Amino acid sequence: MKKHFILILFLVSISLKAQDNNAQLTATIIGSGSPKFNTERAGPSVLIRYKNTQILVDMGNGTQANLQKNNTKIKDIDGFLFTHHHLDHNEEFAPIFIQSLLGGNKTCIAGPKQTTAIIDKISEIYEEDIAYRLSKSGRSLASVKANYTAKNLTGNIPFYIGEIKISYVPVKHTIASLAYRFDVGEGSIVISGDLTYSKTLPELANNADYLIMDSGGAIALGSKKQMPQGTKRTGNKTTQKAHVNLTESSQMAQEAKVKNLLLTHFNFTQVDEVATTEEIRKHYVGTVLYAHDLMVIPHKEEVHSHDGITHSHSNEHLPKIENSAKETLAIKNNVSIITDKAHDVRIITSNAIPNHTVGQFPTQGNPNKILEQEKQYTIDLTPTLAKQKTHVYDGGIDKGKPSYVFGVAINGVKFEPSANEYFRHAATNEPNYEWTLEPLSDEVNLGEDYNNAHVQPNGEYHYHGTPTGLVASFDKSKMTLVGWAADGFPMYYKMGYKDVMDANSGVIQLKSSYVLRQGERPGDGISAPDGKYSGKYVRDYEYKADYGDLDECNGRTGVTPEFPEGTYYYVVSDEFPSASRCFMGTPSDDFKIGGGRNSTQQRPNRSQQRPQPANTNTPPNFTAILQRMDANKDKKISKGEAKGNLKENFDRRDRNQDGFITEDEMSIRNE
Ligand SMILES: [Zn+2]
Ligand SMILES: [Zn+2]
Ligand SMILES: [Zn+2]
Repeated sequence: MKKHFILILFLVSISLKAQDNNAQLTATIIGSGSPKFNTERAGPSVLIRYKNTQILVDMGNGTQANLQKNNTKIKDIDGFLFTHHHLDHNEEFAPIFIQSLLGGNKTCIAGPKQTTAIIDKISEIYEEDIAYRLSKSGRSLASVKANYTAKNLTGNIPFYIGEIKISYVPVKHTIASLAYRFDVGEGSIVISGDLTYSKTLPELANNADYLIMDSGGAIALGSKKQMPQGTKRTGNKTTQKAHVNLTESSQMAQEAKVKNLLLTHFNFTQVDEVATTEEIRKHYVGTVLYAHDLMVIPHKEEVHSHDGITHSHSNEHLPKIENSAKETLAIKNNVSIITDKAHDVRIITSNAIPNHTVGQFPTQGNPNKILEQEKQYTIDLTPTLAKQKTHVYDGGIDKGKPSYVFGVAINGVKFEPSANEYFRHAATNEPNYEWTLEPLSDEVNLGEDYNNAHVQPNGEYHYHGTPTGLVASFDKSKMTLVGWAADGFPMYYKMGYKDVMDANSGVIQLKSSYVLRQGERPGDGISAPDGKYSGKYVRDYEYKADYGDLDECNGRTGVTPEFPEGTYYYVVSDEFPSASRCFMGTPSDDFKIGGGRNSTQQRPNRSQQRPQPANTNTPPNFTAILQRMDANKDKKISKGEAKGNLKENFDRRDRNQDGFITEDEMSIRNE
């Protein structure tokens, strides 16, 4: 007996110790979805945690499964709160409530009106079942009823669960709805619930660290524009607007002056983060984050976003994430490289699945899963040197936004050395395009695996530098082709002939001519980076002609096994720049960022190129506008009928100033 007692004490002390690590208010997104069933996103639910207090806000479909994945036991949860009683937010309440009752923890259950009625009904309907289960441990329903307190929240009196202070305000939705604020220690987190613009929310959320917000209006990856906004017509009935649009969420976040805005409640899987953030930037300048299931805030290691083409993340000071796992993919590599002499082209067709093991994806720093692609690239079979260099960044070799994928490895996986990540202004978060982050730096975390590769949201795996798994089998005593550059010139991995024109001269490891700059960066640390040049930014390196064996584009001209007569060729070096940042020839359009033909992932041009504001120069579909606005069915829109943007821009659109917008006035591009 005494032995047991000591063991118990020991366990208690371990668990107390573990709890000390939780002395920070956190929120775990248990479900980031909506009523629309999605295997990647469970229904709405957030777990708030501080020390050993846990509060679950909303319990949508999949909550129990994700709590299990998160190692959270229902019997350890101290509070259950509802934002509102839409089914997508309380679907799993009944089983969770019953498990909690059986678990015997003291709990607090609260929400808007109907909360106590729901609890009473569930207790009544499942009375026999609950009583039977309780009888197994000699308990009765009456004995456990005292374990929970239930209340319908009215008024505005804050209450506590554990040390966490909970404040709440009503927000506008189609039924009675509440937003909650959790304060404890240094932390503050607000959950908006579902809502339309509500002036109560910015007041509640004033200066909070995080505002977890209804993602209404968020733009899905591959979709052309925002989801419909404003009042929605169903038949002849105008239904009440249920959710915010991005302008409204951006406005509320700005008014509240929150540090981080985390969008959740998505009704699709992949978010066009660039386009969505751009909309939000119209008002709100803080950090914009996108929820995924089991995401934890504050981030221990910030999960960077990656919009499918470019890269962006908000945290500048990240430890390198160890993603050294070596997993074998179920899908097999499939690549064909054919030469078409008649058309003077080389055609690379690939599923973009590597022929080697990969790190773990999704991983911290890279939330995407590797998926098969249908890529086809056409390059020049007989390339020539161009008059001038073309850079993979639009502002030069070391600045601006990414504009080109560099090339494709012989296994069909692309090299994309540029990242759409920059130094950001300390106060406004505005990117400084002069200072592009270098993805291969230890100070920059993009969740890369041991192949210097990671995954875009469309599932495309790609290399930022040396493809370690691919070159592992290369014979280092030979010059070995590793890929093809976008301009048609070959790429070799690090080794080249000692005498550039003599294939029998033996091989040496070729050295790049880039060196780390000495001294301090010129910036003030606010609008441009300061501190010692470390390799964190592309500009931390400078090209020194004749320092190494290679030119500014990390290449040289000579004979190779594939070109015994000689050719210009690029070298993938282990040190900077690894994959080259510029072309000596003319890159094929198939390598423009986001380009390459991909029949399964047709993207709108907007996201293929660098991000542009949403809803730009595409003439709106007039038939759709008529359906939405043409109340008297005269096939034109009068000033009274116009809605939203069209209402605002009516006079400009109405070129002949006759008080109506017709189809041809609508088809003129909006400058
Ligand atoms: Zn909802
Ligand atoms: Zn709702
Ligand atoms: Zn990348």
